[in-house]
Amino acid sequence: MTGITKKIIRTAEAFGASAISRTLNADQLLIVMYHGILPERRAWDHWCQIPADEFRWQIEHLKRHYEVLPLSEIVDRRSTGRPLPPKCAAITFDDGLRNNFEVAFPILRELNVPATMYLATGYVGTDALLWQDRLFAELESFESMELELTSHNLGSHCWDHVATRQQVFDTLLARLKQMPAEQKDCILADICRQTSNAELQNPTRYDFQLMSWDNASEMLDSGLIEIGPHTVNHELLSRLSDKQVHSEITDSHNAVLENLGTSSPSFAFPNGTEADYDQRVFAALKDCGIPAAVTTVSGLNQPSQSLLELKRIGIGADTERWQFRAEVSGMMDALRTLRSSNSDIQEFNRPITEERTVTEFSKVQSW
Ligand SMILES: [Zn+2]
Repeated sequence: MTGITKKIIRTAEAFGASAISRTLNADQLLIVMYHGILPERRAWDHWCQIPADEFRWQIEHLKRHYEVLPLSEIVDRRSTGRPLPPKCAAITFDDGLRNNFEVAFPILRELNVPATMYLATGYVGTDALLWQDRLFAELESFESMELELTSHNLGSHCWDHVATRQQVFDTLLARLKQMPAEQKDCILADICRQTSNAELQNPTRYDFQLMSWDNASEMLDSGLIEIGPHTVNHELLSRLSDKQVHSEITDSHNAVLENLGTSSPSFAFPNGTEADYDQRVFAALKDCGIPAAVTTVSGLNQPSQSLLELKRIGIGADTERWQFRAEVSGMMDALRTLRSSNSDIQEFNRPITEERTVTEFSKVQSW
C-alpha cells in the first residue's frame, strides 16, 4: 500500500466510514483473532504479539460498539436456528500462550468480556515452544549471524542487520512449514546448535511459552473464558496422514476434556488457510462432536457461513487503531474486493496467517 492510499483510507475512516460499514454489516458475525498479548512492546515486534495497552483499547472498542458473546452461545444459536443479535462479535486466541493468562485475562476480566482460547495441547504445561516460535526465538537474539543449512538443502544465510534477519526468518518459516515434523526438528536442532542459543532465557522465549492446565482451569472458572483444542503438535493438518489427522484432533479434544472437564464446541485449525484443512479434518471433528471451527481466512461471517469454516479478522502488532476500527467493521474486506482493479489494495489481501509475523509498516515504511 502506498502512502497516498493509506492516507485516503485513513481519512475516510476518520470521517466515519468505519461506523457506516459497521451498520451496513450489522447482520454479519465478527470473530477477532489474537495470539499473544505482551505487557509492553518488544524491540523486535512479532506480528502475533500485541502490547497490552493496544489490546485494552481494542477490547474497549469492541465492547463499546458490538455485543461480544461467548463463541459457544453463538454456535448454539446458529445450530438451533436462533438469530444472533446485530453487531455480534466473538474474541479468540490461538495457541495457548501463557501471556493469554498473565496479561490478556486480567484485562478481559476487568472489562467483563468473554473469549475463547485454543490450546496446542501437546505443549501445555511444558517449557517447549511451538516450532514457529522456537525458530523466531533462536534468531531473535542475533543482529548479526551466519547460518549454514546447505546440508538440509536450505542454503547459507547471513545477516548483518535486523531487516535482513527478518527476511531469513520469513524464508526459513515458509520452507519449514512444508516439512514433516521430524525433519523440522532436525533442522531446528541444527539452527539451535549454530546459534548456541538453546539455554538462552531471553524475553522472547518467555513470551512464547504456553500456559499450564492450572492457568486454563483458573480462567475457565471465571466463566468468561472457554477453552478449545488446536491440535496436539500444531502441524498443518492437510499435510498429515489420515491417522495423524484423526489423532491430532481427537487427542487434543480429549486432553482438554480430561484436564478441564469441558471443551468449547469449536476448534481452531493451525495456520488456518483453506489449504490447511480438508474433508478428513471435518470427519474427525464430527467424530468428536465438535460442530464449529475457526479459520484464519479474513473476513466477517454472513448468516449463511458454514460453522466449520468461520472466518476471522486477525489482529497483529502492526494494526494501528484506525485500521483496527476499519478491519473489524468489514470496511477493509470491502476494499479487498476491489483488489483486482487496484494493485495497491493487494497488500491488504494477503492471507492473515501465522507467518505474518513482523511489523510491516509501523516504524519505517512508506505507509
Ligand atoms: Zn496456532
